[in-house]
Amino acid sequence: MNPWTLVFDGFDPAGEGLREALCALGNGYFATRGTASEAAADDVHYPGTYIAGCYNRLTSTVAGLDVTHEELVNVPDWRLLVFATPGSAWFSARESDLLDYRQELDIRHGVLHRALRFRDDHGRVTSVRERRLVSMADPHLAAQEATFTAENWSGPLRVQSALDGRVTNRGVERYRDLRGDHLTDHSTGQDGDVTWLRVRTRSSEITIALAARVESDEGRSELVQEAGWISEEHVLDLRQGSPATVTKTVALATSRDHAITDACSAALRWIRFAPRFGTLVSRHRHAWDRLWARARLDLDDPEDAQNLHLHTFHVLQTLSPHTADLDVGMPARGLHGEAYRGHVFWDELFVLPWLNVRFPEISRALLRYRHRRLPEARNAASALGLPGAMFPWQSGSDGQEETPFLHLNPRSGHWLPDNSRLQRHVGLAIAYNVWQHYAATGDVEFLTGSGAELLIEIARFFAALARFEPASGRYEIRGVMGPDEYHEAYPGAASPGLDNNAYTNIMTVWLLLRARETLRLLPQRERGELSVRLSLTEEELDRWEEITHRMRVDFHDGVISQFTGYADLPELAWDRYQGVRRLDRALESDGDSPNRYQASKQADVLMLFYLLNAEELREILDRLGYPVKPDMIQRTIRYYLERTCHGSTLSAVVHAWVLSRSDRSRSWRFLTEALGSDLNDVQGGTTAEGIHLGAMAGTLDLMQRCYLGLEVHHGSLYLNPLLPDRLVTLSLPIRVQGASLSIEVDHDQARITRADDGPAHLRVTVRGKSAMLERGAGHTFSVSREHQS
Ligand code: BGC
Repeated sequence: MNPWTLVFDGFDPAGEGLREALCALGNGYFATRGTASEAAADDVHYPGTYIAGCYNRLTSTVAGLDVTHEELVNVPDWRLLVFATPGSAWFSARESDLLDYRQELDIRHGVLHRALRFRDDHGRVTSVRERRLVSMADPHLAAQEATFTAENWSGPLRVQSALDGRVTNRGVERYRDLRGDHLTDHSTGQDGDVTWLRVRTRSSEITIALAARVESDEGRSELVQEAGWISEEHVLDLRQGSPATVTKTVALATSRDHAITDACSAALRWIRFAPRFGTLVSRHRHAWDRLWARARLDLDDPEDAQNLHLHTFHVLQTLSPHTADLDVGMPARGLHGEAYRGHVFWDELFVLPWLNVRFPEISRALLRYRHRRLPEARNAASALGLPGAMFPWQSGSDGQEETPFLHLNPRSGHWLPDNSRLQRHVGLAIAYNVWQHYAATGDVEFLTGSGAELLIEIARFFAALARFEPASGRYEIRGVMGPDEYHEAYPGAASPGLDNNAYTNIMTVWLLLRARETLRLLPQRERGELSVRLSLTEEELDRWEEITHRMRVDFHDGVISQFTGYADLPELAWDRYQGVRRLDRALESDGDSPNRYQASKQADVLMLFYLLNAEELREILDRLGYPVKPDMIQRTIRYYLERTCHGSTLSAVVHAWVLSRSDRSRSWRFLTEALGSDLNDVQGGTTAEGIHLGAMAGTLDLMQRCYLGLEVHHGSLYLNPLLPDRLVTLSLPIRVQGASLSIEVDHDQARITRADDGPAHLRVTVRGKSAMLERGAGHTFSVSREHQS
């Protein structure tokens, strides 16, 4: 097995959607699904191209209501390249005609290959070899090349290249009752040997322009322009056994781009200067080489390595150094499909920790995206009569709440209220990322420029959510939802929301502590300025301090309760729902609801053990005056493990993590599931609608922060490696506090080497033993099992 390629042999119509998502190519500016070049959207294929941050709103009527939704727009299709043998219709892959069919994704260099042979109705056998790329070197360029060989015939082969602006968003079946016609004002034209197409999004008024240059051995024979479509047809004079090649290079621009006059003239200029296919490929390969030098994760097992390479590849195709120059957030399903309408959730919590020590410029840009939307988050809080910033559960362009009010249960056909916007904890994820980013990078400029303000405004909101309840003598947060989306209301309650979700309450305490610490970290002048600007008073800070001593957390049976009243819910008859992940849909179809049971979609309480180390959590609970028995963490893990159906791919990541030190084989099973989340499409058909970026990045983070036990505190690097038995060695580069390091760990030792950058000295502590590393120096620490705590 080659850990750098993903191979699909044979044509499998039923699996095509999944392949298209897994073989999508992108560069952080845009991505295109790995749909066959000749295929249009139908029951088998769904071509889609998505530009980061290119959203549009439309109003549709569903269940008798007008609903407005914003979604990532499927932009005009650049990739169409169809062909026909003499007297035949345009080729379309049909199992009966295909002699060979193979698709191969070169993960190392970001090139999608396809090789096929087919026999037409006249017995002519033709082979086709294709290469496609979305340039990582030139983020506005994409290209594909097709080489045709007539194996047992000679004659003309028609090849048509098109730009198609008639596309709509219809990639997700359950959204098909909603409008998807985001594009309007189509125009097309020709400029010398270049064809172009321009469209505009209906409400966001983003102009999108594509310009294409097609090169072949023969001159162009025909140009077809229809509304929203432009194509050119070339006729290749095929000689038996002699290959003939067509290449198509496309430039893509939008009116949101930097350094342009307008989208169309930019696309035309870029295509004129675009290099030929061979040069494009080599520039693209070099760009990937540079990325892999920073993203590398070497381990011995080729299958695990392949999965991790694939995950790294898709994370970087969605969030690349090109993204760092844009004002975009992290769409939960990548730029790979239309699931969740391209919205941004809390999933960056699983992505930024990996980026922080690999590509800190990207994580900083994603936090800047949040910071720019701070005014909107303040408005959202103030609409509820609260101070501070309330970030939306789902959002896209401008940071408004985009969570739909209704969602469809495809199993029952019912439209149901969607209360998931009550997941206020998204703000905690942003704050956690701010803190982690600062800890990893030591970037004071980031902290003073935007990080501290974000953290304090979020802290302010959560502090205001917490109300003192004389009955319990504690601060309580009522009417929210935790990460477990299967609990949104008390059974029979008139309004949704739950009280004292432990994850939310404990993380609020963590946040208030960090917010105060952040103020202390700021240089005096900046602290003063920020306090004045945000009107922060001593009374407010005192109230925060008090909350950190008196927040309510519920317990039952020696475990942390997910929320107040959780313990009173009955157990679910799990044997009836064995292996069912979408328990919400199954129960609703049976006229029931998961709200009634102790049954979770995904890790909720256990998120605490994912984000906080045992010591941090104990300190918080101690501070709150809750006695913690030594086995509390293990009991809590076991308790929820038995009551979670993993209806989100994020759940396996968290479980692999929390079990990594106590039940290594079970942890590995969860890791294996997380590694295969998309490859094996574990959520039953959802990957075709977009990859699960949080789970993908989560597996990478597991390798470094969990199995290496990597943490950065107060400018020092700490490692506490405990490799699973299956991993023999782990080797990777990281960047902390501005210093580049290379780490190699096996079951006996950890070797850490510094490059010649960053601060003069960096303290590195491995399993309690410290060394001060100078630039260029290395140190080997023992981590053998005898020394394991
Ligand atoms: C999960 C959320 C997640 C969202 C987007 C949902 O299924 O429950 O935690 O943020 O998917 O990935």
